[in-house]
Amino acid sequence: MMKLYVETKRQVADCILFYRLGDFYEMFFDDAVMVSQELGLTLTGKECGLPERAPMCGVPHHAVESYLNKLVQNGHKVAICEQVEDPKKAVGLVKREVVRIVTPGTNLDTDDLDASRNNYLMCVFCLGEKSGIATVDITTGTFLVTETDSRRKLRDEILRFSPAEIICNDAFELTGLNLQEIKDQTGATIFTLDSTYFDDEECRQSIKDHFHVGNLQGLGLADMDAGVAATGATLRYLTETQKTKLENLTTIEPYSIGKYMVLDSFTRRNLELTETLREKNRRGSLLWVLDKTKTAMGARLLRSFLEQPLVDSEEIEARLTAVEELNQNAITREELREYLGPVYDLERLISRIAFMTANPRDLIALKTSLGMVPAIKTALQEFQSPLLSSIREEIDPLEDVCSLIGKAIVDDPPVAVREGGFIREGYSEEVDHLRSAKTDGKQWLADIEAREKERTGIQKMKIRYNKVFGYYLEIPNSYRGEIPQDYIRKQTLVNAERYITPELKKLEETILGAQDRLVQLEYDLFVELRNKISDCTLRIQQTAKALAQTDVFCSLAAVAERNRYVRPKINTRGAIDIREGRHPVVEQMMSSGEFIPNDTVLDNHKNRVSIITGPNMAGKSTYMRQSALIVLMAQIGSFVPARSADIGIVDRIFTRVGASDDLASGQSTFMVEMSEVANILRQATKNSLLILDEIGRGTSTYDGLSIAWAVVEHVADTKKLGAKTLFATHYHELTELEGKIPGINNYCIAVREKGDDIVFLRKIVRGGADKSYGIQVAKLAGVPDDVISRAKELAAELSDSDITEKVQEITETDEAERPKKKHHKVDEVDMNQMSLFDTVSDADIVRELMEIDVSHLTPLDALNTIYALQNKM
Ligand code: ADP
Repeated sequence: MMKLYVETKRQVADCILFYRLGDFYEMFFDDAVMVSQELGLTLTGKECGLPERAPMCGVPHHAVESYLNKLVQNGHKVAICEQVEDPKKAVGLVKREVVRIVTPGTNLDTDDLDASRNNYLMCVFCLGEKSGIATVDITTGTFLVTETDSRRKLRDEILRFSPAEIICNDAFELTGLNLQEIKDQTGATIFTLDSTYFDDEECRQSIKDHFHVGNLQGLGLADMDAGVAATGATLRYLTETQKTKLENLTTIEPYSIGKYMVLDSFTRRNLELTETLREKNRRGSLLWVLDKTKTAMGARLLRSFLEQPLVDSEEIEARLTAVEELNQNAITREELREYLGPVYDLERLISRIAFMTANPRDLIALKTSLGMVPAIKTALQEFQSPLLSSIREEIDPLEDVCSLIGKAIVDDPPVAVREGGFIREGYSEEVDHLRSAKTDGKQWLADIEAREKERTGIQKMKIRYNKVFGYYLEIPNSYRGEIPQDYIRKQTLVNAERYITPELKKLEETILGAQDRLVQLEYDLFVELRNKISDCTLRIQQTAKALAQTDVFCSLAAVAERNRYVRPKINTRGAIDIREGRHPVVEQMMSSGEFIPNDTVLDNHKNRVSIITGPNMAGKSTYMRQSALIVLMAQIGSFVPARSADIGIVDRIFTRVGASDDLASGQSTFMVEMSEVANILRQATKNSLLILDEIGRGTSTYDGLSIAWAVVEHVADTKKLGAKTLFATHYHELTELEGKIPGINNYCIAVREKGDDIVFLRKIVRGGADKSYGIQVAKLAGVPDDVISRAKELAAELSDSDITEKVQEITETDEAERPKKKHHKVDEVDMNQMSLFDTVSDADIVRELMEIDVSHLTPLDALNTIYALQNKM
């Protein structure tokens, strides 16, 4: 057995092998050691023909899913090796085979997966500059492919889909992309596949075979060499892991990357699109406000809308028109939403059917869902917009499938497929017969007895049963002469004889074998039915897609109506003009009327960069985020929270918001901030929208101001970047840029001074704030009075001191000289201070060194520490 184990393990060397032994899946050797630690299982041992026992651990087969999911979530591949013959019938060792390999991107356990998001497997094939990207969700049948010749776009695509697993060729690792960053941001596990997976000839063939086509033209893949390699490799990988025919991958959709707005993961997080920044709650995110979908498919589609806003004005307008039309006929829209209510996750149901894991209850869920389809299709007739009409056309009423299930399966079936009790009466004569054999058996026996008595006139005959002969007719000896010809004598007793008849034996078979045969027959019928439905996969998938879209547009429309959103105008001039815009999420958290609306005006000329000042808590970040969110909402085809909005399509939104410490990755706040800024400056284009909040806050005033200043110059300069930018800052010095660089305008959020206190007006107005009101805000926050009054004293002293002078100096210095001068100053100050420490001994420094807790030091702290220590020497 152990030899066979080792042989099997060799075939799936990169997987953890779950090896079925009786009621357990056992793991051995390194697998056992690792898994026992990861899952907290007891490690035992097994004789294996070697001097030492093999380490072993196991999980019970009936609870295997939870263990398996945990390992897969942790990024492992798990191969399941089953006994493929009945142990009772096996001669020698029971035959075992790997029946399935579960990987992070191919997990089919939909109970364990989040229904509101896709679980993607992505295949990346890189050849020179070019990459082919195939993305598949086998739980829903989504299969997409694209190509790009830009590394940056490749990275964006990966982050956009955030796959659970990436499979790739060797060249992917050499692209220079930061794989660790990709892993950190997506949580994906990356597996490199052998080059044979990407063989051009084989890939083409396997695609043709899978989609039953003669050439790749019809699939739209003819000119996609890299895409073909990625797709072919994906198909092979899936076939090898799933060991089935992948019936639910009925279509593949080639797309071009420029179709969507790019949102990097920082921006997605900062704008709190699907979860809040801190608590990672859905409540408080944009999705929370917008998602009033009724189905899991709709929820997933809406999420993907949010994650990939459009950039094509026609497509955006088509969606907006659909939403508008649904609002013009709100009664039918609500009717539609009611019909969508009972619809289950058709995409995942049909995948379970295709992968033969669906149970009778799944079929009833399918039937219930399909039962709603005709009504939805009819209701959609009320709408004429091109998008809603084409959605209606995509819907197949599927009445045949619905009635087939209705006829075959009872309304409230059990989950198990191997215990019977789910085939409806009247569907199969044989099933009905077997069922009544169980219950009516006694009656049938009584009927036979009565009939035989009548026929033979032997009133004293009796039907009896024993284990040796089964059912028999017992007739007292006194009637021996009257026994009919067709009776077969089985046994002679002292005063009676026992007979059987063919009819009686047949009935006996029916009664005794009924249960076993019933269970088997119900199972066979179920499988037959499941296969029949599986043949309709494509029709069901198309309908599911159309229902998901219906759901999303109804949700967008209902939310727009409820929250008083307006239809935005869309332009390609690049001008953004939002009147009385509101933050979609913050306004929901307040009672109505409390949120103060504000205008946003940005364009590619006079209003390129807005420098926004104002005290903390005034509402700067809310304002900037609301502007970005309104643009994003418009580009997904949603109405927007404003009195009116004219939105110039942007290709990307970038945000650098707040000082989020990334402690987990060991980077200091400042380092994180600067890498985000670097990313933005490198990736943004003149058609992007930039939201920059408090750049330069994490370092000293001079450095911070200089960096912020340089960034503003860079983004405002049309020769360099020239992107529309909202820039909030606490460096009031930056307001001097207005008038000096074209396109820069100052704004501030108004506050009113009321004696010693301030009142936030939340209104954005032209001009720079002249004060930061830090002390007033501190007072509002409840800092004790004596601290506040001491702070005021200090502020008064400092206000005329050289800090302002120094700042002035920097702002007026010639650009080329600026860095030199600053460094010079810093050194000077430090050296003066150093003289105080002249008496420090080497021993002191050694002690200090020893006291450093290296594991908690950020790189920047380390540099500073070394610098300080050097200066002490
Ligand atoms: P800042 O970025 O200037 O420090 P925030 O944008 O974080 O300020 O806003 C602080 C708080 O003020 C928010 O939590 C919100 O509750 C409130 N707020 C912001 N803008 C508005 C507004 N337009 N109307 C009403 N309340 C607002």
